[in-house]
Amino acid sequence: MKTDTVTAFNQLALAKPLLTVLDEVGYETPSPIQAQTIPLLLEGKDVLGQAQTGTGKTAAFALPLLSRLDLKQKDPQVLVLAPTRELAIQVAEAFQKYASHMHGFHVLPVYGAQDYRGQIRALQRVVPVGTPGRVMDHMRRGTLKLDKLSALVLDEADEMLRMGFIDDVEWILEQTPAHRQIALFSATMPQQIRRIANQYLNE
Ligand code: AMP
Repeated sequence: MKTDTVTAFNQLALAKPLLTVLDEVGYETPSPIQAQTIPLLLEGKDVLGQAQTGTGKTAAFALPLLSRLDLKQKDPQVLVLAPTRELAIQVAEAFQKYASHMHGFHVLPVYGAQDYRGQIRALQRVVPVGTPGRVMDHMRRGTLKLDKLSALVLDEADEMLRMGFIDDVEWILEQTPAHRQIALFSATMPQQIRRIANQYLNE
């Protein structure tokens, strides 16, 4: 499908519960980044997107990745890394909204200065959305297992670089299964982000 011909969400092969939500929230037309990204992510391809906030980029990755979730699988299938606690919460709220008709599904914001124990109990059938340091802590403690991971989102990758999280991001990337899908979004494309894209994106 040519992306310039996508004028309605129901032209995209999104799962039914997501189309229902889009109807409810009143989104009529996919934004350009959504029209370009959603078909690729639905096919399991990797995506490198240059996009600012306000362009609809959260739905551009949340809708197709939610669409591909296997709700019978307990371990995390999708992980989102974001530079700040605020963005992590915002992305988690967006996932929760789009998933409101997907029963038994939870989103968990994982960021600094939270009690671990509540999070540990909660880390089942979830999409963890977190800052790199905290996600790494959970992985090291064995409270977040990513061997069933099928997709990883790097949101605002240039901000994660600017804030000094890029080594943590790479460490996490190295621990995830080789064939996981990656969606990397960045407002700018500095050399180090291009290198990461070249090194870790398969398609
Ligand atoms: P984002 O760029 O992901 O931060 O999204 C910016 C805002 O646009 C959010 O408040 C979304 O709820 C809204 N939004 C995203 N996609 C659409 C769409 N296709 N139609 C209308 N509003 C949208």
